[in-house]
Parts: sequence; C-alpha cells; structure tokens
Amino acid sequence: QKHDSLEYTRIRRVAPIAVTTHGGRAKCLQRLIRLDLPVPVTIALSFESVRQLADGLSVNIKELLHSFGDAPLLSVRPSSEDPDWGGPGAMLNIGMNDQRHAELTETHGAEAADALYFRFVQAFAIHIERLDPEEFENDTSMPTSQALTRALEAYEDETDEPFPQDIHTQLTKVLRSMARAWSGTTARLLRQAKGAPADAGLGLIVQAMALGVGPGESGAGVIQLIDEDTGAPMIRGRYKRQAQGRDALNAHNDTMYLTKDTRGPSLETDCPALFEQLTTVSQLCRTKLREEMQVEFTIENGKLAILDAVRVPRSTRASLRTAVQLAEDGIIPKSDALLRIPPRSLTELLHPQIDPTAARSVFAKGIAASPGGAVGRLVFSSAAAQASEARGEACILVRRETAPEDIRGMHSSVGVLTERGGAVSHAAVIARGMGVPCVVGASMTINSRKKTITGADGRVLNEGDMITLDGSAGEALMGETKMLPPSKDYWYLQLMEWADAIRDIGVRANADTPADAAMARDFKAQGIGLCRTEHMFFEGDRLTVMREMIFAATHEDRQEAISRLLPMQRSDFIELFQIMQGQPVCIRLLDPPLHEFLPSDRAGAKELAEALDLPLSDVTRRIEWLSEFNPMLGMRGVRLGITFPEIYEMQARAIFEAAIEASKIGEPVVPEVMIPLVSAMREVELVKTQIDGVAAAVRNEKGADFTYSLGVMVETPRAALRAHEIAQHAAFLSFGTNDLTQMAYGLSRDDAGRFMNAYVKQGVFPEDPFHSLDVDGVGELLTIGAARGRQASPNITLSVCGEHGGNPESIAFCRAAGFDYVSCSPFRVPVARLAAAQLVA
Ligand code: PEP
Ligand code: MG
Repeated sequence: QKHDSLEYTRIRRVAPIAVTTHGGRAKCLQRLIRLDLPVPVTIALSFESVRQLADGLSVNIKELLHSFGDAPLLSVRPSSEDPDWGGPGAMLNIGMNDQRHAELTETHGAEAADALYFRFVQAFAIHIERLDPEEFENDTSMPTSQALTRALEAYEDETDEPFPQDIHTQLTKVLRSMARAWSGTTARLLRQAKGAPADAGLGLIVQAMALGVGPGESGAGVIQLIDEDTGAPMIRGRYKRQAQGRDALNAHNDTMYLTKDTRGPSLETDCPALFEQLTTVSQLCRTKLREEMQVEFTIENGKLAILDAVRVPRSTRASLRTAVQLAEDGIIPKSDALLRIPPRSLTELLHPQIDPTAARSVFAKGIAASPGGAVGRLVFSSAAAQASEARGEACILVRRETAPEDIRGMHSSVGVLTERGGAVSHAAVIARGMGVPCVVGASMTINSRKKTITGADGRVLNEGDMITLDGSAGEALMGETKMLPPSKDYWYLQLMEWADAIRDIGVRANADTPADAAMARDFKAQGIGLCRTEHMFFEGDRLTVMREMIFAATHEDRQEAISRLLPMQRSDFIELFQIMQGQPVCIRLLDPPLHEFLPSDRAGAKELAEALDLPLSDVTRRIEWLSEFNPMLGMRGVRLGITFPEIYEMQARAIFEAAIEASKIGEPVVPEVMIPLVSAMREVELVKTQIDGVAAAVRNEKGADFTYSLGVMVETPRAALRAHEIAQHAAFLSFGTNDLTQMAYGLSRDDAGRFMNAYVKQGVFPEDPFHSLDVDGVGELLTIGAARGRQASPNITLSVCGEHGGNPESIAFCRAAGFDYVSCSPFRVPVARLAAAQLVA
C-alpha cells in the first residue's frame, strides 16, 4: 500500500516479505505468523521506506495506524538484513498519553499506569529527543507518580513544548529517529566492521503491544532450548511479572525461573499450562525455523503473546553442537550443518581462548599472527624463556623480531609478542606452526637493555610482569585474563567427519618436527605437504654442528661435520615417517641462506668463537662473507644446493635411509623430496641427477629398494612461467605462495607489517596479500603455472604449501584451479577441511 511516500506491509501469511527488502526480523515474524502463533498485529517498513524517513520526507501514517484499531500501544523494533549488524534499540509503549494513563489507572491500577507512562516519557526524551539522560533518571526514592510528573515537567522545560499527546506525532518521531540513527557514522562504521555492505538497509517493525502489566498473570520473558555456552539442550530463560520486553533479562532480583527450581519461584510451578504452551511454541520454532531460537513472549492477563524470536546468541562451541544436533534430528541436512559454521571459528575451539566476557586492559595492538590466548610472565630472551619453562612457569617471549636462535625460546613459551614483522615474518610462521598464540608488529617499544616494554598508551611493563596475549584479536593485555579451555568433543568430530566425506581437495599439514607431525595426524591431515628441514637444524646441539659445517675450512672438515648431521637428520625422518604411518611426507631440502644459522650479535659471535676454538676475527669475517644485501633474494634454496652440493646429498641420503628403516618397522614409505626456490629448469636437472645418484648409492649399499618422488617448489615468478619445462623433471609442483607473493609484489614478507595496515586502510590492497591470496596477480601466476605444468605433464600433482593453504578464500581459488591439495599449519588443518567441504556442500 502506498501512502504519501511511506510504504508499509502488514505481515500476514502471504505478505511479500523478504530478508533483502524488510530485514531478518520481519521475515522471522512472518514465519511465526505462519506457524499460527499468537503474534500481535505487526507491520513492516521496508528498507526503502526507512531510507525515505531518514531523508526527512514528510509522511502520513494515519492509514498505517488504522491497522491497529483504536488507541493502541505500539512498539517499534529494528530489522536489519543480518542481526549482527546491530540497529537502534526497541521503543515500547508508543501511544501513551494522559488519556491512556487515566484509562489504564482504571483498568490496571495506578502503579502499573504510572510505570508505563514514566518509562515511555523517559525513553522518548532520551532516545528520540536526545535530551540529557540525567534529567530523566529513575529515582527509586520517590513514588512513580511523582517521578512521572517530574519527567513530564522536565520534558517541557527542555523542549519548550508539552509532551506530545498525539500518537501520530509520537510514532512519526520514533520512526524518523530510528531511521536516522541507522545512517549515523558510528552505527555505519560498527556494522561495516561486521561485514555489512556500505548501503546496508534497515527495516522497522511496528507491533501492537501486549501489555505484560496489569491484572491477572501478566509479565514478560524469554525462553530458549539450549545453553548458549555449550549448546546442550536445556530450557533456559527468565520471566518477570509486571514487566515488558526484555526486562526479565536485565533485572536480576525479582525474575522467575522458567523450569522448577529450588532457588525460587518458577513459571512451571506457578502457571503450568502457560509453561507447557511456551515450551511447545519453542519446540515448534526449532523444528520449523530450523534453528535454535530465543523466543520473546508476554503474558497479558493469563494470555500468551509471542512478540519476536531471534537466533540464540551463542558461543562457537554452542553453534557447532546446535548445527550437528539439528542435522542428527533430521531438521536440517548435513550440508546445511557444514555451511553454518564459519571455518575460521574452529580455531577458537582448538586453542585455549580468552573468556569473551572478561575485562580487557590492552597495552599494545598488532597483527593477529597465530590464534589463541595465553597467559604468562614477560621474558625478553630465549634463555629466560627456557629458564622459566624449567621452573614450570608459563612465559610469553617478547622480542623486537625473532631469529632462528629464538626457536627454542618460542618452544618454551606459551605466547610470542614482537614489535616488528608481518603476517609471514619468522615469528608468525613459526608460531603458527607450533600452534603458539602470537602477535607481531605490536604498537609498543621494547628496551631490551632495561628489559621493559612501553605500551601504546605509555604504560611500562617489566620482566616478570604477568600479561595475556590474544593471538586471535592481535592484542596484548595487562595481567592475567580468564581463559576457556579448548574442546574437541563429539560434536566437533562429527561435523569434521561429514566434512571429510564430501570434500574433493586434499588437506595436508606443514610440519617440521615430530610434535608438529603428531598434531597434524591428530587434526587428520592427509600427510605432510611441507617439512621445512632447516627448522631441524635450529635445535640444540645441531645448531653447533651446523655452524661447524659452515665454518669448515676444507672439504674434509665439511664432510666431517656433515657426517655428524646425517644420523640426526635420519632419526628425525624415521620419527616423522613413523608418526605419519605411511601417509605421504614431503620433505623440502634446505632453503634459507647460511648466515641465518650464525649469531646475529657480537656476544653470540664471541660465544661461537669459543665453541669452535677460532679467533673472533675469523668468525666475524666469515659472518661478513656470508652476509648479503638481500638475503631473501640471495644464496638460498636450490642456489645453495648447487653451490654446496654436500648439504643436499646428505639430506637425500638421510631421507632414503630413513625410508628404508621406517618401512621395515611400519607402513611402506614413499618419500617426496622437494627442491626450493627454483627459477630455471637446469637447476632441477642438476639437483635431480645428484639425488638420483644418492638414491642409487643407498640402494646399493643397503641392498634394499625403495621409491621416491622428486618435486619442485614454484615460488619464483619465473618458475611459474616456465612450469612446462620444469614439469618435465618433476613429479609434483608445490606452489610456495609466501615467496611467490613476496616476489610478485616485490614486497618483503618480513617488513610488510610496517605499512600493511596503512595500505589496507586506504584500500591500496583489499587485504594483506600474505594472508589472503591475491587472486588477480599472484593468482594468475598460479593459474599459468598450473596450466603449463599440466600441459607438459598431465598427471603431475599440484599443491599450495604457503600460508594461504589454510585460508578459506584461497582454498576456493586452488580448488577452482584444479589443485590436488593444500598444505597449511597443523592448527589450520581443521579450518581448511571445513572450508574445502563448504565448497561442495
Ligand atoms: C613459501 O614460500 O610459500 C613457502 C612455503 O616456503 P617458506 O615459507 O619456507 O619460504
Ligand atoms: Mg619459500
């Protein structure tokens, strides 16, 4: 119906109401009406009408008001497309005036009439006329009648007009004010942060009030059928006599329980028939709306009215249990259950989490590099972290940035916080791999000499101070914050089983150590897609032997050091193969430049000189010789393998000998050997010849046969462009999207954190390309590489093993490009499994 320019629709069974035109609440109310529930007369204003109201168009609402009969009392509530986008608060009791007040005093008693009128004047003054709330405070020391008189006087004082008596005026003002609140800057920014589009619309619902105050059994409450924290089935909610709207949820003392309770009166005991009716309604909502709903109800003189229903606000754990339970009850299909859980939210379940209701005292904000919460004492060095662990004290390692020698310290810490670095900096990658919560590039200043941090707000923290790290939000908090434990319960396992049954792209894990591998299996990864062997050299006495190898003056000395590394590597691989029980394990040959294994400061150099019994000058000279202007573009990856062939030969030997050993004890192992940072076919030819040679030698020496496959990491743009050549010598191509992104943009992955926020904020990049694959540029390199690789070798295996492997949007891209699997940090494996399933569901 059209009236002037304001359009409205009475919600009935057949009215044209859609979420995209009238919002979620309007659609839900129509569903309740279709269930024949006792919903008072309800009218919906479309997004378009609300926009016109906000624009100040003069409207006539006479006809709209006709729908409600004579002298109604009305409520107005917001109806946005997604309830999470917020909206103005509800306004109740529109239509109250002196005359209604007098009538209600007759019918419902003075106390009820005074309270209703007072609350309306109060809400109207504060929320619609935006008058000073102090003037309209509810002073409980005076009788309500006096409070009402004062409020009416205050209104007149402030506005120079008497309180509007006409419902037309009241309602028009309410509608316009709510419409304008939606277009205000704060509301817009808040909802955009929750993913709302810039032009998100607001609908409004005008509904006849059921009073909830007055004679007989009267009151209001909410009911739901699950616990909002766990999702366990139970009747939850509150009821309050002589109350309205959501009063029962806000009041603490004089509310009633719904079910029988020893602690106080309950609706079930006092009004069994009403209670019965309510639970039936709730059940009906669950099965017909196919969701756990929180139902808002009012009882007016013994008669039940259903005003509204919203999705029960709940934790991720409860969402997951609800989705599985609804599917098991046959209410929704399994595919729906899979689609209802945002994959990223799973990380909340698999890490200890900071209690969302806990108070937060944030002293620094940075990039959320590895999810989960952690509480511990501040330490400033790896040595202090290890000492802390030895004492059995949880600690959080704080560094300007991390280097390989910090790995032990990171292992000993429950969380890692750095001042520098971006999403794929050393600290971020290692912490994600370990499943340790981590925040990088935090807004704080470290003074390592004094062992202090100065937070963004100037607060100073000292070594030993207790802090909390929120790796999911990218924040560091003062003191100890309350935590919730991780859970991998029946509901989680069930959902993941359904996910695995339908997905059609594989998910492997990036795992470097036995602990990672065990975690990968635990999270049901289908093998290891990337084992970064350098991480095996960073640990304990291996680092010393590695350094001896780097410092070897002669070929013999180098061979001697290498022969000591060989058994260590071999036993690492045997352990990995055993843990993975015959699942594929892809081992990458050494990648980083050698100087990464050397100390980065003078004290470290001195220590090393002592350990190697060399003059300090020799050590510093060697470090200088190895250092490069651009180490990430220098002698690393296959360049190292071609320059110092002994290292790759040793690694290949360790892999093959381990495969023979592990196959004797357990499942047969077919190792995958991967060459990093390739840019030319000839590199692959050279290394392949070398490694085939080692394989032949090992077969000969051990008198045992084994098979293996050799593949190439595509992580330079040139490798992607020349994939057809490279594929001729490779059984698989694994796209290293970290380096590929770095090189495609010419953007250092270790330094990007400094300006990434500014870039994303100003829309230069829609998102951090190290987080979410840049589909346009890097994505095109992937598509070209995949197509050219497949063209030369149709059965070649294609995968992604950069951090993007765990990113839901990037997984969608990889699947569409025909990749066989993605590989990501163990903790992101469940996220990837669910995200992959959602692409098929
Ligand atoms: C990559 O570059 O994407 C990759 C997986 O290797 P790394 O992160 O070890 O350089
Ligand atoms: Mg790389």
